[in-house]
Amino acid sequence: MAFDQGCAEDDSLHEECGVFGIWNVPDAAAVTALGLHALQHRGQEATGIVSFDGARFHSHRGMGLVGDNFGDRRVIDKLPGRIAVGHNRYATTGDTILRNVQPLYADFEFGGFAVAHNGNLTNAHLLHRALVRRGCLFQSTTDSEVFIHLIAISLYSTVVDRLIDALKQVVGAYSLVALSNEALMGVRDPLGVRPLILGRIGSEGTGGWVLASESCALDIVGANFVRDVEPGEIVVINDQGVHSVKPFGRSRERFCVFEYIYFSRPDSVVESMPVYDARKRIGAELAREAGVPADVIVPVPDSGVPAAMGYSTQSGIPFELGIIRNHYVGRTFIEPTDHIRNLGVKLKHSANRPVLEDRRVVLVDDSIVRGTTSKKIVEMVRQAGAREVHMRISSPPTTHSCFYGIDTPERGKLLAARHSVDEMADLIGADSLAFISIDGLYRALGKPGRDPDKPHYCDACFTGDYPIPLPDQQDNAEKQLSLLTMND
Ligand code: AMP
Repeated sequence: MAFDQGCAEDDSLHEECGVFGIWNVPDAAAVTALGLHALQHRGQEATGIVSFDGARFHSHRGMGLVGDNFGDRRVIDKLPGRIAVGHNRYATTGDTILRNVQPLYADFEFGGFAVAHNGNLTNAHLLHRALVRRGCLFQSTTDSEVFIHLIAISLYSTVVDRLIDALKQVVGAYSLVALSNEALMGVRDPLGVRPLILGRIGSEGTGGWVLASESCALDIVGANFVRDVEPGEIVVINDQGVHSVKPFGRSRERFCVFEYIYFSRPDSVVESMPVYDARKRIGAELAREAGVPADVIVPVPDSGVPAAMGYSTQSGIPFELGIIRNHYVGRTFIEPTDHIRNLGVKLKHSANRPVLEDRRVVLVDDSIVRGTTSKKIVEMVRQAGAREVHMRISSPPTTHSCFYGIDTPERGKLLAARHSVDEMADLIGADSLAFISIDGLYRALGKPGRDPDKPHYCDACFTGDYPIPLPDQQDNAEKQLSLLTMND
């Protein structure tokens, strides 16, 4: 989230990100670049690596993809050392400037410190205001910089104690990978909204450690999964091994359910559950809940594929690739204007006519956000000769914005926030439209249903039940209210 442009009023400035850290491997920056490459789906806007050679820190940050920045051996050679942290950034708006690119780095009296953050702080504006009042000079416009200042002004002496001191003042969702002269640290917020895992690389005793947003980043570097970092846990990795610190009292975890639906890569195992299996089970549950007579099940690639497979198996209706994706264009979701976004959908998908012609088609996608994608795809499938087009969505209607690190537009732009399911079916031009129910989603993930008193996941985008307070939003609402009262 950016601080400028009065963004407390703009809830669309949300970042999704991927983080990676490695301790004690040769050529740590090159390994980190590989890990970031596997996490590219979590952020394509910018990327960075900070390495430590035992005496000095080195960094390279750049706009664009990991391959564009770290594909050149000469760049990697300027990042020596056996220790490194890296970050992929994904922000829809806000400043696309180099000083916002992570990992952020600062020189403190205790030495260097680098931090990479996935998530969103929900009191960043309030903290920013208070820190500026105390004389802190912000270098970037990202919320993650508050960590740097809170650590700088902390009265504790060790890095870990200063980090804990900072963490106790922030509110929000965060998975952090941080690096000091003495240790690599991984942190998850007390509810564990965003993922972070610990892996082992090399041989027992001599090898190193890896921290990553998802397990797909372990596979690419040849590391083995050890465990998820626990909600509210700080893992401190140094030459003595891995130590765990749990500075927060126990709270009930609320992992982000959207990681299963869309965000994580299907070959990742998230919170002990393979994402691919989860998506197939969600698709099967969707078929049980909202089956419709049809000739063919067609996924909206790529994110709709596993759910469509599950739907097909459950319904007994054949699965076919009726829409082909062009992989050489970015995600349409991040295009800045509706006009470009509309074009983007056409650039990205094309109809496979022989599969669709004269058929009753069930299209399966993971979500409807603004509705742009669905509308274009339905139109495309009809133009290819489909007799009926039924849309099935493997998430409940997205009715609320995310403030915890998934990119969603402000509420007014969410189709489901303004329209009933029938109205949405009309708007996207489908013969029928159905979403999986929230209980169906929980069942597919192995839970008995959603217990409203203690839901297992953060599902705020579907329910409006925000498990972490939103102080910046509240502060903003109060400001708006006082402006209205002043104008009365
Ligand atoms: P929309 O066209 O706005 O309705 O967007 C829906 C499409 O965007 C779906 O096909 C999803 O796969 C994809 N999508 C959903 N959430 C996100 C997200 N947070 N970032 C990027 N793409 C998304």
